[in-house]
Amino acid sequence: MEYLPNILFAIILILGIGYFAKNIKKLIRNIKLGHEVDASDHKSQRWANMARIALGQSKMVKRPVAGLLHIIVYVGFIIINIEVLEIIIDGLLGTHRIGQEFLPASVYGFLIGSFEILAVLVLVAVIAFWLRRNVIKLRRFMANEMEGWPKSDGNIILYFEVVLMCLFLIMNATDTSFQLAGSGNVVSQFMVPWFNGFSPDTLHLIERTAWWLHIVGILVFLNYLYFSKHLHILLAFPNTYYGRVEPKGKFNNLDAVTAEVKLMMDPDADPFAAPAEGKEDEVPAKFGASDVMDLNQIQLLNAYTCTECGRCTSECPANLTGKKLSPRKIMMDTRDRLEEVGKNIDANNGEFKEDGKQLLGDYITHEELWACTTCNACVEACPVSINPLSIIMDMRRYLVMEQSAAPMELNNMMTNIENNGAPWPYNQMDRLNWKDE
Ligand code: SF4
Ligand code: SF4
Repeated sequence: MEYLPNILFAIILILGIGYFAKNIKKLIRNIKLGHEVDASDHKSQRWANMARIALGQSKMVKRPVAGLLHIIVYVGFIIINIEVLEIIIDGLLGTHRIGQEFLPASVYGFLIGSFEILAVLVLVAVIAFWLRRNVIKLRRFMANEMEGWPKSDGNIILYFEVVLMCLFLIMNATDTSFQLAGSGNVVSQFMVPWFNGFSPDTLHLIERTAWWLHIVGILVFLNYLYFSKHLHILLAFPNTYYGRVEPKGKFNNLDAVTAEVKLMMDPDADPFAAPAEGKEDEVPAKFGASDVMDLNQIQLLNAYTCTECGRCTSECPANLTGKKLSPRKIMMDTRDRLEEVGKNIDANNGEFKEDGKQLLGDYITHEELWACTTCNACVEACPVSINPLSIIMDMRRYLVMEQSAAPMELNNMMTNIENNGAPWPYNQMDRLNWKDE
């Protein structure tokens, strides 16, 4: 019986980490449904991007208020969780504040004192975030795609953080030996009077309850991430590493199309030549994307990383002028469809069973795709290097090259280019008529 709490702790820890690992495995499996991309280039630039954008939060501070609040929550939350190390060791070994035994009192006091100050700052930042979403109602949080689960998700995580920070401070305030040591209780000492008159047993019970709820809360939080936009806490790092390193305006050409164009321009080429040896039965690759399996792995990683912050949509000229397009919705739809495909695979013994649905049409409409001006403002605005435009362009490519389903104006323009060498419907012979005017 003496070891019962330690055994219980170990079981909870294994279950919490095990379920998280299972979901991460699923996430990697889902991302691998996309095409492989060679991202072995520009290694030093990629590492620098990750350090600057994900770790240094460089793009967050472009909007200073939100950026500062986010940095407080991010730094505070990560640093305070160092405390979890001590909780885990105590839980497994049955010790109490093992750091107090092994670290000099001044170092331990400095660490816990810093955690307490950060906990208060996180509480203030979280309350400000809650007010922005629920009282001030910032426009970018009020869009249609933020109805329902995305709205609840944004609030749930704030409540989580409030509860975890409060539990941490209560745990410290009711820990009699910690308070008597008098080092590191910079904030919790002011909470001690709240518990005046409580018997030592009651204080111990409150301290133990806060301790257990704190660690269980952290494990629940960890597992909640997979179902939440807060997966970006983890995925921002790989996502910024794999983010685009080429100039934003550069579009990728399809190898098959480039080969065709080269063939057309080569006067010695034989258009009726037999396919190269070994390529007789090769099925031509699908042009563009109509479903998540046609996208590449970085695009799918992007979808899981999206924080749903709406910075992209708030800078999108199409959205600002009342068009139906929202780059944030493009990313949310891609993730939703990817999750749907993943669940389909799980339910069918590892094989995807055709479900009569696809990303194009069932989630993202033609109208949204054609509203895009390809300006790249969304890519520039994204604080975690997501590229909604690349998904839009791949889906447009599918519409044009597989379905000839471009809007009439575009089809006319493309026909003119093909026939007249210019987008306008005038004969090439009339090109120089302007000089006779
Ligand atoms: S590239 Fe398209 S989706 Fe992105 S901001 Fe410009 S118009 Fe909007
Ligand atoms: S794509 Fe980037 S900017 Fe847009 S909502 Fe997602 S994280 Fe925010």
